[in-house]
Amino acid sequence: MISVDEALSKIEAHKQTSDPITLHITKCLHYVLAKNVYALINMPPFRQSAMDGYAIFIHENDTYSLVGEIKAGDAPNLSLQKGEAVRIFTGAAVPNSANAVVMQEKTTVKNNILTINETPKNEQNIRPLGEQIKKGTLALTKGTALTPSKLSFLASLGSNQLLVYPKPKVAIVVTGSELTPPGTPLEEGKIYESNSLLLSATLQNEQINDFTIYKVKDDYQSTEDLLKKVIDENDFVLVSGGISVGDYDFVGKALKNLETEEIFYKIKQKPGKPLFFGKKNTTYVFALPGNPASALTCFYIYALPLLRNFSNQKQTHLSKITQKITHDYHVKGIRAQFLKAKSSKNGVEILGFQSSAMIHGFNNANALVFIPENTSFIKSNEDVEVILLP
Ligand code: AMP
Ligand code: MG
Repeated sequence: MISVDEALSKIEAHKQTSDPITLHITKCLHYVLAKNVYALINMPPFRQSAMDGYAIFIHENDTYSLVGEIKAGDAPNLSLQKGEAVRIFTGAAVPNSANAVVMQEKTTVKNNILTINETPKNEQNIRPLGEQIKKGTLALTKGTALTPSKLSFLASLGSNQLLVYPKPKVAIVVTGSELTPPGTPLEEGKIYESNSLLLSATLQNEQINDFTIYKVKDDYQSTEDLLKKVIDENDFVLVSGGISVGDYDFVGKALKNLETEEIFYKIKQKPGKPLFFGKKNTTYVFALPGNPASALTCFYIYALPLLRNFSNQKQTHLSKITQKITHDYHVKGIRAQFLKAKSSKNGVEILGFQSSAMIHGFNNANALVFIPENTSFIKSNEDVEVILLP
């Protein structure tokens, strides 16, 4: 059995970012850029009208003769003389010979003669070539997480393929002969299976969508066969249950027989003592305790950093803050603890329903309070470490 700190440093030592892949830009939301992207064009690519109105070649009085029209998308193949104007619309290319656009609300037109209410400034209402970004300059740096606005910025510059860090492919393996799918009648001695949803929904919350759920009864051979297959096919395997010391807990034995390297097994913590972390070839295996609150806590503290790091996200761990606890707290036992808690501007409160079997405890929680091992009592108003839940 190792301490929480030792387990965390082993996780840190196994952080490995995946090799980048090229994806079509429409598939890149929430991916991280694997190389700098430079603008392929000037944006805007031509002097562009910012208004619906008239492009003019300014002269000394306020009447102009109208000589044509340029719509958005037209190539401006006419040349204005001093005192001439052309009808123009937002986004249309302004002819080189024009030196201002007057908005239509500030004009009147009669018999093809435009009268303007006031003389515009030079280049008024014209977006300069490359005003937003110049061709060949840095648009986004390597390491940027791609949001909708950033993707559309790159699309506006003509990018259509991006080099990004891939998302992990994950298998969720749910073990237990007592498990019944929700939506079917519950027989005596059975419970509804909820950890597959717990883990798959948590992955989706992390924008990881390439996962497959497998279910297996507490039977040695089926467990080994399934684990062999999913280790071969995935970057991460998240097992639920069957990793404890009961006679029907077969996951540990199967992983051992499959020659999975054990990086650690069992942590001096509550909940989640029987967590197993191992590696076979390039696949990481987290065998999480079946108790739902333990499974989720172990996922957040130990599996999440490696999953996030795989796709090179900047923040790999959940955010941590220090806050004052709002009440006295007597700690049960000597193991380190991750306690469901509610953090607010008044401080942090440790909630009820702390049993590892009760996912209920997370319902009102927005944080976990970390209590180091061998702590027996925390006095109201003392500082504690608070891990914020996503
Ligand atoms: P185990 O780790 O397999 O000994 O399971 C510990 C506890 O968690 C037992 O009470 C199981 O019934 C329960 N459990 C295991 N897997 C699941 C699951 N997928 N959904 C809900 N409860 C589970
Ligand atoms: Mg079990």
